[in-house]
Amino acid sequence: MKKKINLQFLIMSVTAIILTLVISTLVSYEVLKDEVMEDLHTYARVLVETGAFSDMDHISYNAKEDGLRVTVIAEDGGVEYDSNANASDMDNHEKRPEIEAAIESGEGSTIRRSSTLERSMFYYAVRLDNGNVLRVAKESDNVLSIMSSTFPLLLGLAVVLFAVGALFSHLLTKSIVAPVEQMANDMDHLESIRVYKELRPFITTIQKQHEDIRKNADMRQEFTANVSHELKTPLTSISGYSELIESGMATDEDVVRFAGEIHQNANRLLTLINDIIRLSELDVSTQEVVYEQLDLYAMAEKCVDMLQVNAENHDVTLQLSGKSAYVNANREMMNELLYNLCDNAIRYNKKGGRVDVSVEETDTEVVLSVKDTGIGISKEHQERIFERFYRVDRSRSKLTGGTGLGLAIVKHIVAQHHANLELESEKDAGTQIRVRFLK
Ligand code: ADP
Repeated sequence: MKKKINLQFLIMSVTAIILTLVISTLVSYEVLKDEVMEDLHTYARVLVETGAFSDMDHISYNAKEDGLRVTVIAEDGGVEYDSNANASDMDNHEKRPEIEAAIESGEGSTIRRSSTLERSMFYYAVRLDNGNVLRVAKESDNVLSIMSSTFPLLLGLAVVLFAVGALFSHLLTKSIVAPVEQMANDMDHLESIRVYKELRPFITTIQKQHEDIRKNADMRQEFTANVSHELKTPLTSISGYSELIESGMATDEDVVRFAGEIHQNANRLLTLINDIIRLSELDVSTQEVVYEQLDLYAMAEKCVDMLQVNAENHDVTLQLSGKSAYVNANREMMNELLYNLCDNAIRYNKKGGRVDVSVEETDTEVVLSVKDTGIGISKEHQERIFERFYRVDRSRSKLTGGTGLGLAIVKHIVAQHHANLELESEKDAGTQIRVRFLK
């Protein structure tokens, strides 16, 4: 890239140099041409006014002294006088452009290539009162000669210009590319790199992406560590109890109890693994999520029915209110959302407590609310309970079969549906979670 930019700058400067040289040569030739013609004009005017050629028999003017050639041509084109040659030897001049123009309009001029390549003949002709045409001519440099005479100087100038251009293009390329190279070398200290304005948005985006990647990596690492830890506990129990049975030291009674422990821990492992798989599925979401119009109230009704026995076991009253309201959502995810919220409201409740589930509809949204009169969550924990594996009371969560992943799954589902999640809770008084679906 650097080479490419550099090369382009060089091509640009070479083109600019060549163009400047050509144009300046042409301009100076134009100036020279104008000057020579102007001179010829003046000579001709003076010659006409002094009447030097009005009497052909007495011509007093010596043209050669002024470096000029003067010719007098009759109206029919016949040459009457020429300062450089014998008039009678010269052919008819009627068809010469400057003569033609002078006969027609009073004056005319032409430039013709001279016998030598580098000189041109400048002609200016003017009609006299007696009908004859007076032509003044002068030999002068042409473009080629101007070019060849100034060539060494111009070449020198071009080389100097080229060197300066190359130096500048090198410096400019370096200053354009340097910050990009610096950025590539050290992604961690982007803010310390001095950059030009146009690069700023680019850096901001890269910085953000870089941070996101790092955050993601950190999160993944933390999650993996947590998963290993969570899996290790039930597996250690299973391994311990089975070892005891294997050693033959356990009584029949013990064996039944140990088998029960093993069974419980194996179940725990299964739920954990299910939740972990579910979360990673939601994370990658490779398959297309199918959305459909779902009656949230009808789904909540089914969920409440399903959890009724569970609620009774916890001595909790579980009730639903509201009426049919449709949301555009994924069926499986809605079932998980309802289940996790209601299940938590039952599990973290008190004996004789209540869980009120409601589905309400306003002009702009459908609101699902799950409210309990349970143990509540104190302020310092409220922000964190949606994090993976975060539990306020680890032993209570485990005792009731919690994995610490339910609300993380809920948060994920809510985000996927572009809905809003609200938590209101007071320790020892109860918790209310609202999910607002925009219509
Ligand atoms: P768990 O499987 O432990 O229930 P969740 O992700 O569902 O995990 O919840 C995280 C933590 O939030 C729980 O361990 C619990 O401490 C707290 N929590 C969740 N729901 C409620 C609730 N309705 N009342 C009180 N605490 C709750």
